[in-house]
Amino acid sequence: MLNKEDEVLLEIKGLYKKFDDMTVLDDVHLSVNKGEVVVILGPSGCGKSTLLRCLNGLEKIQGGEIKYRNKSLVDQDVNWQDIRQHIGMVFQNYELFSHMTVIENILLGPVKVQKRDKHEVMEQANQLLDRVGLLDRKDSYPRQLSGGQKQRIAIVRALCMNPEIMLFDEVTASLDPEMVREVLDVILSLAKQGMTMLIVTHELSFARAVADKIVFIDKGKICEISDPDEFFIHPKTERAQHFLNKFQ
Ligand code: ADP
Ligand code: MG
Repeated sequence: MLNKEDEVLLEIKGLYKKFDDMTVLDDVHLSVNKGEVVVILGPSGCGKSTLLRCLNGLEKIQGGEIKYRNKSLVDQDVNWQDIRQHIGMVFQNYELFSHMTVIENILLGPVKVQKRDKHEVMEQANQLLDRVGLLDRKDSYPRQLSGGQKQRIAIVRALCMNPEIMLFDEVTASLDPEMVREVLDVILSLAKQGMTMLIVTHELSFARAVADKIVFIDKGKICEISDPDEFFIHPKTERAQHFLNKFQ
């Protein structure tokens, strides 16, 4: 019998992805347990976004296996609309619908896709908005919000689908420095509550604080998977040392 903490949610084996004849992910193996926070680091262009996108059905892969709760995500008949309710994703550029208010953006998926009761979802949305300090902005339009506010709304919108796993792809990369913290704090609080997450970020001190394990990728290959303190103090590979030196 597995402990709850050892329950494997995601399993990636021998993942191979290319764009035309350029290999972008090469023999990637990674498993993610329930409640685990995995931070993916690596130089620009190494394949981090592509890896997350493969987990959300946004890229076709050319080889290997991806399983969510033991169900293959590489079969032809995968229902991605269903999987995306379990594996939520937040991107660098919010992607809120500009013609809809904050609350309309948040309600759309749960009500239209999940067919949930509007009042029940509204209550959950209010709680989530309150938690990120934006309850008073529920009737605003995205253009009336700062970047940090929009990104917190994008996170609430994803959470309101009750996903089991969250994928974050450089969600603070477009933000002014003073807004980075407010978004990272929301992710930290999710980690404390036991949310399973895969996070791509260049915020190294945040990475060290939030991660259960660090995955370092270079040129489409996983170079090392380490405990965060070990990674930052004694990176095993020269490539990781080189990467970390650039931030010092
Ligand atoms: P990262 O997120 O680590 O910066 P990406 O996963 O975005 O890297 O990209 C990995 C590589 O794949 C890069 O060389 C990038 O230029 C290339 N790439 C990404 N998306 C596409 C695409 N749609 N078509 C062609 N090449 C792409
Ligand atoms: Mg990227």
